[in-house]
Amino acid sequence: MVKLFFLRKGFMTLILGLEGTAWNLSAAVVSEERVIYEAESTYKPLHGGIHPREAAQHHSSELKSVVSRALRGAEGEGYSLEEIDAIAFSQGPGMGPCLRTVATAARALSISLKKPLIGVNHCIAHIEVGRWRCGTKDPVVLYVSGANSQVLAYRSGRYRILGETLDIGIGNALDKFARYLGLSHPGGPKIEELASKGTKYVYMPYVVKGMDLSFSGLTTAAKDAFDSHPEEKADICHSFQETAFAMLTEVTERAMAHCCKDDMLLAGGVGANRRLRQMLQTMCRDRGARFYVPETKYLKDNGAMIAYLGLLMLKSGDTTPIEKSEVKPNYRPDDVEVTWRAVE
Ligand code: AMP
Ligand code: MG
Repeated sequence: MVKLFFLRKGFMTLILGLEGTAWNLSAAVVSEERVIYEAESTYKPLHGGIHPREAAQHHSSELKSVVSRALRGAEGEGYSLEEIDAIAFSQGPGMGPCLRTVATAARALSISLKKPLIGVNHCIAHIEVGRWRCGTKDPVVLYVSGANSQVLAYRSGRYRILGETLDIGIGNALDKFARYLGLSHPGGPKIEELASKGTKYVYMPYVVKGMDLSFSGLTTAAKDAFDSHPEEKADICHSFQETAFAMLTEVTERAMAHCCKDDMLLAGGVGANRRLRQMLQTMCRDRGARFYVPETKYLKDNGAMIAYLGLLMLKSGDTTPIEKSEVKPNYRPDDVEVTWRAVE
């Protein structure tokens, strides 16, 4: 870690953040006070799921336009390029080819603008943007995205992973099952729609091992149920959601009990699901806890969260020298020393 003490006194800190770990390429300019401007371009697979090389090609052809739009937008709000204090980028976790494409652009911007570079952990960016937008200080976090499903809480300088999936993320599980039903990517919202029409519970394996979870057996069971009874599609979607979300809610509740925390924050793209929110809300209400979820645009992958965590890191003097800016496809949140929060 390099300590820097060059922030202009009395001025606002401005960060340009780049996100592109998977299918959404996004750039945003953020200050302490607000998201000044955000631009994005989303890769949409023609068939099947996200192909890492195709997504990376999408990012490389769209990068110039997305970054220019974010900078022009910030200019329209009265902030010039010279006022940007640092360039933050998603260093991982994510798809290698996508991460490398965005990291290369971030390094080039950092060198040409002569501004520090900040490699950001994508999962922690989801948490910090949620804490910022919702005003919750010290929550237990349920982070549910395409590739990740984790329950985390802050303790003694790190975000500790209290429970996580042992195989695929819940978003990938929903997307895989949706593809099996012939639905296009992303499948999560389409499963939600079908599930809202289901009424009957079809048996699904409920797999919680201690504080960890598994979704691949559930996905196979849902496919088998559909093969046997294609006419029960809506009931199977309903049962898939009920089972998977109950598993996530159980582990989150146990984490809150163990950590004696009364705030719960939902993060990641699957957090858009109304049934998941309802279950978590009920659990929090029953234990007298507060449930927080940011606006949907901050749940999915976005450049604003990368810029915001970059801002927190810059203010604590935590920047990334180019020679340490290699991408980390398996970057875990508990690998990160949290320099911007008091040690509690
Ligand atoms: P992220 O990786 O955080 O950008 O989140 C993307 C994942 O969120 C994909 O797997 C989507 O299918 C999933 N997703 C988005 N909206 C919903 C929803 N309403 N219900 C369930 N999953 C969703
Ligand atoms: Mg994400």
